[in-house]
Amino acid sequence: MNPKALVFGCTGQDGSYLSKSLLEKGYKVFGTSRKSNPDVSRLKALDIIGRFEVISCDIESAEQTLNTIKSVNPKEIYSLSAQSSVGLSFLKPAETHNSIVKATLNILEACREINFEGNLFFAGSSEMYGSTSTPSELDSKIDLKSPYATAKYQSFLLSKMYREIYKINSVTGVLFNHESSLRDEKFVIKKIINRAIAIKKGSKEKLILGNINVIRDWGYAKEYIEAIQLINRSKLNKDYLICTGESYSLRTIIEIVFRELGLNWNDHVIVSEDLYRFNEIEISKGNPNSIYQDLGWKSEIKINRLVQKLINNEL
Ligand code: NDP
Repeated sequence: MNPKALVFGCTGQDGSYLSKSLLEKGYKVFGTSRKSNPDVSRLKALDIIGRFEVISCDIESAEQTLNTIKSVNPKEIYSLSAQSSVGLSFLKPAETHNSIVKATLNILEACREINFEGNLFFAGSSEMYGSTSTPSELDSKIDLKSPYATAKYQSFLLSKMYREIYKINSVTGVLFNHESSLRDEKFVIKKIINRAIAIKKGSKEKLILGNINVIRDWGYAKEYIEAIQLINRSKLNKDYLICTGESYSLRTIIEIVFRELGLNWNDHVIVSEDLYRFNEIEISKGNPNSIYQDLGWKSEIKINRLVQKLINNEL
């Protein structure tokens, strides 16, 4: 019989790629959305609508979360659902907290109650390390700079605690930024590419950005969801960082995008201090050695190829 996988947050960027990847591996997939009428645009883009069941589940409700896990009875669970914007978390701290911490606790408690023997994965975030001039390791110093980072760190600790105390196979992949054509418009790389393409097509409207000196480790979402599955299926039951090991400034990405389109970014970009993010992390770097050594995973798509892919997809 095909193994069953349950993806909380299947309509998001990672959830859609993950659902597709699981289907391709022969899994019987079940996804959840908080909405009774979910936004299935990403599932449509990947041509997987109708190939699995999307269950309506309010992950902030303990009862609904328990019932969903009980009724699906999966071998693998992936928890990707979250208010995932750092910037928005300052405006919606309670929503961010509940969508991450309460949801994590609901899933863990449900798993404890039913003596879940399968594998459980949580999407963590590199935001929990704050600014890092040297590459973070899993046990690097924690420096929480936003409600989002705080919630992701609490989720990380809860998962670890349930693993240690209740012997649940619960792991966290600490994800660094990862992009794709399915990324929401509110995220910066998508914004840069869309505006640059519009300019290339004749628009005179400038691209207005905040701090372009921020440095991040940017990866490709489609690769990261393979890492997520490896971590979840590993018998080692360990948490890992998922990153490329290479970090670049936003300025570098802007240069690459405009160069790829035959444009000079200096002619089209305005930096506005009004758009600087509150309490923003300056530098984020990660060390991917641990996941490579244990599980053989490393990212192949580095910054130039990533940008080319994203531009081609948008075009
Ligand atoms: P998305 O924002 O694309 O998708 C997350 C999904 O969570 C949404 O589609 C939504 O589905 C659901 N959701 C639940 N609660 C809320 C809420 N309060 N507000 C908005 N959406 C909510 O995220 P990604 O796929 O990019 O990320 C997957 C996971 O990885 C998330 O937990 C994220 O925090 C984490 N992560 C992502 C990184 C990245 O660079 N992409 C970096 C580090 C961590 P619905 O409306 O159908 O319920």
